[in-house]
Amino acid sequence: MHESSALTHIRKLTNSSVNCSQLDVELLMMHVLKLKKNELYRDNPQINDQNKKDILSLIKRREDGEPLAYVINEKGFRNLELYVDRNVLVPRPETEIMVQTILDNFDSKPHNVIDLGTGSGAIGLSLSKERNNWDITCSDISIEALKVAKKNMISNSLKVNLVNGNWLESFQRDYFDIIVSNPPYLCPNDPSVHSDGLKHEPIIALVSESEGLKDIEKIINKSSKLLTRKGCLFIEHGNNQSKQVCSLFKKYGFSEIATIEDLNGDNRFCSGRL
Ligand code: GLN
Repeated sequence: MHESSALTHIRKLTNSSVNCSQLDVELLMMHVLKLKKNELYRDNPQINDQNKKDILSLIKRREDGEPLAYVINEKGFRNLELYVDRNVLVPRPETEIMVQTILDNFDSKPHNVIDLGTGSGAIGLSLSKERNNWDITCSDISIEALKVAKKNMISNSLKVNLVNGNWLESFQRDYFDIIVSNPPYLCPNDPSVHSDGLKHEPIIALVSESEGLKDIEKIINKSSKLLTRKGCLFIEHGNNQSKQVCSLFKKYGFSEIATIEDLNGDNRFCSGRL
């Protein structure tokens, strides 16, 4: 058996890999050895042939363009550690801003909230983490995605209602105080759908007809019937869709319509009050 230390091996792999950064290799090594970063650097353990084989196969997946989050089945979102796999979109930092905006606008009075198309549960679970008296529902059309959200609910010791449904179809009138969604919004012919990263993600979480606006419009329309008086809707959208999404909010009777930028300074969310 050929042994070498983890840190020496990380250096070797980083130098020989075409498009894996040292950080990627470190994270893959931590995953294989089940160590935290401080443990890796403090102990610099010996690794064996099996460890080397495992890490090489993970590097290969990463080099094929698979998101690191899928390779290590993990993604941090705000203050949650989320399990992720190919059944759910990898939660994005943009979406963290939408959660922050909701928290900034609503104090800890009880509210009924739904996260539509929850995927990994990122939005609903992080709201639940920071507002533990809100009644939060996470819904998704995909049973496989709901399994992931459930896993994350349990591992983060949170309690939300998990519902299998197509947007708001199975709900009654005047029910929610806050509706939030990061729906699919890319055009079906957007070439980025086939790029590294996105090509590994579930297409139903990415793409929507009518120039990417079909699901957004459905959500806005239904939300106008299901929000309580003065209830609020928050929707993530593409960086070139802000005008159209604002018009749809207007069309379905929303007021106080606001556009919020992401960290790149791109218009990324729309919010409105009924
Ligand atoms: N924000 C994703 C992207 O980077 C798209 C996710 C979505 O459609 N909600 O393209």
